[in-house]
Amino acid sequence: MGTYEGLQGIWVLCGVRDGQIDRVSRELLGEAERLGAVEGMKTTAVVLGREIPQIRGADHALVVQDDSLSVPEELRWTHELYHLVRRYRPQVLLLGANGFGRSLAPRLAARLGTGLTADCTALDMRDGLLVQTRPAFGGNLMADILCPDARPQMATVRPRVFRAPDWEAARPCEILREPPAGPDTLSRLVEITGFTPSGQDAAIGEADILVAVGQGIGSKENIAMAEKLAELMGGALAASRPLVDGGLVPYAHQVGQTGRTVAPRLYIACGISGAIQHLAGVAAEKVVAVNIDPDAPIMERANWAILGDCGAFLREMVDLYTTSPPSVLPDRHSK
Ligand SMILES: Cc1cc2nc3c(=O)[nH]c(=O)nc-3n(C[C@H](O)[C@H](O)[C@H](O)COP(=O)(O)OP(=O)(O)OC[C@H]3O[C@@H](n4cnc5c(N)ncnc54)[C@H](O)[C@@H]3O)c2cc1C
Repeated sequence: MGTYEGLQGIWVLCGVRDGQIDRVSRELLGEAERLGAVEGMKTTAVVLGREIPQIRGADHALVVQDDSLSVPEELRWTHELYHLVRRYRPQVLLLGANGFGRSLAPRLAARLGTGLTADCTALDMRDGLLVQTRPAFGGNLMADILCPDARPQMATVRPRVFRAPDWEAARPCEILREPPAGPDTLSRLVEITGFTPSGQDAAIGEADILVAVGQGIGSKENIAMAEKLAELMGGALAASRPLVDGGLVPYAHQVGQTGRTVAPRLYIACGISGAIQHLAGVAAEKVVAVNIDPDAPIMERANWAILGDCGAFLREMVDLYTTSPPSVLPDRHSK
């Protein structure tokens, strides 16, 4: 049973990447602080692992440090978190909707017998309840989902939905160390044969410039051209869902409702119509659209709309960028 009242508020399960709390967790800690202020709830950063990084931006940090937690792995994490939640009974538990969070959250919710809202795009507090907003019915409406009875109220949130607060300025936490839970009687991890963090995942989520391809791209050669341009500009390749479904581009590059939410400074959409499910994932500062249809919805969203063939556009851009890069394209580091 709960023994520490301060831990019964809002929890954020924090991921660790390159020895630091990862970006989506920082974003969630910032949002948890805002939500906590609405209802006077304390916030807790929950960190599991062999190495524990510097933790900030919450009232408390609940830490379980153990060699067996060296690799994020769903069975082990579910077991540990189940016992932490049962012990302290938080009201809210937030997780990043990255690959691991998406896989872990439903297992944990099922074991705890509570609800889960996946891929939220907004959160709020109303009378002690977490208002979990997410697209529904193919992205045609936004649903507010409540979990009035079971606890904790669990939600996953995509990276880049919230802004990460300034980490250096974030307040220090009171660190509370918890021993690992006893043996897991429900499951046993026999062996981990390998663990490869997805570099591609990070590339599209964190790039300042994305060159995105859609069904109008026309050929594999043009996809390669788009990738080349992205590389020359120091960015990454993105894609609409049909190209991923067609096996032309890996899923890690998909932008949209069932892909990633991206927030680059510049999004160059080549042969993409701008369907609502695609635009749901585009939180770019500026959009360039290249399309042969002046009435394509992406042209409305674009800051610069280029009417024409995207293959020709890409060839010309690669050519220009190869011959005289700085003078023809915006400097990605300038504000
Ligand atoms: C539940 C659900 C979830 C979905 N999730 C996603 C998602 O996460 N991401 C996603 O992208 N989609 C998603 N979709 C699919 C979405 O509805 C659209 O079908 C998809 O985004 C269309 O992809 P597109 O723009 O590449 O293709 P199209 O809509 O076919 O558009 C192709 C565009 O290329 C233009 N074009 C053609 N030739 C050229 C040329 N030579 N040069 C320049 N332009 C040209 C055309 O004018 C057109 O505008 C989802 C759908 C559903 C129902």
